[in-house]
Amino acid sequence: MDTMLKAHNKLEWLPQVHGFSEKWSNSISSYSRVQSQELVVKSYSKRGRIVGVGASSSALLELVPEFKKENLEFDLPMYDPSKARLVDLAVVGGGPAGLAVAQQVSEAGLSVCSIDPSPKLVWPNNYGVWVDEFEAMDLLDCLDTTWSGAVVHIDENSKKDLDRPYGRVNRKQLKSKMLQKCITNGVKFHQAKVVKVIHEESKSLLICNDGVTIEATVVLDATGFSRCLVQYDKPYNPGYQVAYGILAEVEEHPFDVDKMLFMDWRDSHLKGELKERNEKIPTFLYAMPFSKDRIFLEETSLVARPGLGVKDIQERMAARLMHLGIKVKSIEEDEVCVIPMGGPLPVLPQRVVGIGGTAGMVHPSTGYMVARTLAAAPIVANAIVRFLGSSNRDESGFVANGDELSAEVWRDLWPIQRRRQREFFCFGMDILLKLDLPATRRFFDAFFDLEPRYWHGFLSSRLFLPELLTFGLSLFAHASNTSRIEIMSKGTVPLARMISNLVKDTE
Ligand SMILES: Cc1cc2nc3c(=O)[nH]c(=O)nc-3n(C[C@H](O)[C@H](O)[C@H](O)COP(=O)(O)OP(=O)(O)OC[C@H]3O[C@@H](n4cnc5c(N)ncnc54)[C@H](O)[C@@H]3O)c2cc1C
Repeated sequence: MDTMLKAHNKLEWLPQVHGFSEKWSNSISSYSRVQSQELVVKSYSKRGRIVGVGASSSALLELVPEFKKENLEFDLPMYDPSKARLVDLAVVGGGPAGLAVAQQVSEAGLSVCSIDPSPKLVWPNNYGVWVDEFEAMDLLDCLDTTWSGAVVHIDENSKKDLDRPYGRVNRKQLKSKMLQKCITNGVKFHQAKVVKVIHEESKSLLICNDGVTIEATVVLDATGFSRCLVQYDKPYNPGYQVAYGILAEVEEHPFDVDKMLFMDWRDSHLKGELKERNEKIPTFLYAMPFSKDRIFLEETSLVARPGLGVKDIQERMAARLMHLGIKVKSIEEDEVCVIPMGGPLPVLPQRVVGIGGTAGMVHPSTGYMVARTLAAAPIVANAIVRFLGSSNRDESGFVANGDELSAEVWRDLWPIQRRRQREFFCFGMDILLKLDLPATRRFFDAFFDLEPRYWHGFLSSRLFLPELLTFGLSLFAHASNTSRIEIMSKGTVPLARMISNLVKDTE
C-alpha cells in the first residue's frame, strides 16, 4: 500500500488527462490488492536492502524510496501583489517550456512573472536527448552523462548499433541555469496555481488559488499535459506512452556502459499470459547505464490507446530484469511516465498562447519533446518581444488588441509546415498503434536501416513534408515484403485521414 501511494504521488495531474484517469486509478487500486496477495519471499540485509532476490514486481517496488522533493537553493525575487502592476508576460508553469520563454522574453527587457506551485523544485522527469540536439542549442553543459552511441535489440538474434550519441539531461543544472538567467533579467516569481483567466481587450487577469490576481498583457500557458488554460475544440483522443522507470543500484547488469539501450524488444523472458499481452501491445526496455552497478531502467509502451496499465508494465519489467540477471540492490528514484501523444492541436489561434506539452508539441510518434520545445522557445519569445516592442502599444503601455498579438505568436509556433509535419507524425503514430510485436519489430528493423539523415531527422522533427514523403518511400523500400503488406493494410485508413487533414489545413 505504501509503495502504491508513492507511485500515486506522481499521478496527481492525471484527472486532467481526459478519458484516462478512471482507467488509471482503477489499475492503481487493483494493483495494491495484487501486491498484498502476492507477497514474495524476500531476505533483507541489515541495511534494509534486498539481497539475492530475483526481481518480482512487488519486490522491486518495496525498494522504492520515499518520493523526495528536492528544492534548488535559490533566493527567488517574488512577485509583490501589493505593488501589483501590469506585467508584459505571465508564464503559467515553470517546467522546461515555461522557464525557457520566461528567460528569453526577460532578456529583451520586458517584465515577466513566472507562476508555478513549486518554482524551486527540481523537475521530476528523467529526460534523455540526442546529443546533437543539445549541442545545436549550446546546452552540452546541461547533460550529466553521454553515451557514444545507442543499441536497439530487434529480437534475440538481431541487434542494431546506432552511431548517434545520446545524453541524459542534468535537470538540476538546466533548471538552475534558466532560473539564474531569469533572476538576472528581473523575472518575478509567484508560488501558486492559476485557476482562471479573464481576458479584457488589452490585458488578461490571472486568478491564482491563493487569491492573488496577476495582470498581464500576454499569458503563456506552459502547464505541460495539464493543459490548464489553452482551449481545445475537438475531442481529445491521444495515444498514450506509458512507462515505469527506476534509477537503481544493481549487483551487475549485462549492458555496455558506453552505449545507451534505446530499445530492447526481446521477449524470451516472458511466458504464458504475460507473453500474450506483450505480443499484442509490446513494451521494450530503455536503459541508461551509468556504471557497472548504477543504471536507469525503463519498461516502456511506445504508444497505445487506451494506455497500458502501470502494473502490467511493472510485471513485464520484473520478468525482464530477472531474465537478464539484474539484481536490484536499491532504488534511488522511480518514475511513472504517462505522455499523451498526437490528438488534435489546440484552437489556433486563441488568446492564451502556449508552449510545450500544453501546445501539442510532443512528438506524436515518439513521445519526445524537450529538445523540440527548447528549440521553439526563442520563436515564441521573439514573437512576443517583436509585437510588444513595436508600435502596438499606446502611451500607457497597453496593446491595442491582445488577440492580434496572440495570433502572431501561434502563427510562428505552428506555421503550416510544422502543422503538416505533425500530421505526418500522427500518421506514424496511427500505424504504430496497430502493430503487434512481430510487426513492430519489422517496422524498427527497417526504420533503423534507413540513412541516418532520415531516422535522425524523423526523431528530431527536422524533416518537413517533402522530405517526410521521401522518408516514407525509403522506409517502404527498406521494409520486408511482410512489412510492406502490413504498412499498406494498416496504413491505408490513417493515410487517407492524413491526406484529408492536409488538404483541409491551408494557410
Ligand atoms: C516521466 C516523464 C519522462 C519524460 N521523459 C522525456 C525524455 O526523456 N525526453 C523528452 O524529450 N521528453 C520526455 N518527456 C516528455 C516531455 O518532455 C516532458 O513532459 C516535459 O516535462 C514537458 O515540459 P513542459 O514544460 O511542457 O511541462 P512540465 O515539465 O510538465 O511543466 C509544467 C509545469 O506547470 C506547472 N503547473 C501545472 N498546472 C499549473 C497551474 N494551474 N498553475 C501554475 N502552474 C501549473 C507544473 O507544476 C509544472 O511545474 C517525459 C515526460 C514524462 C512525464
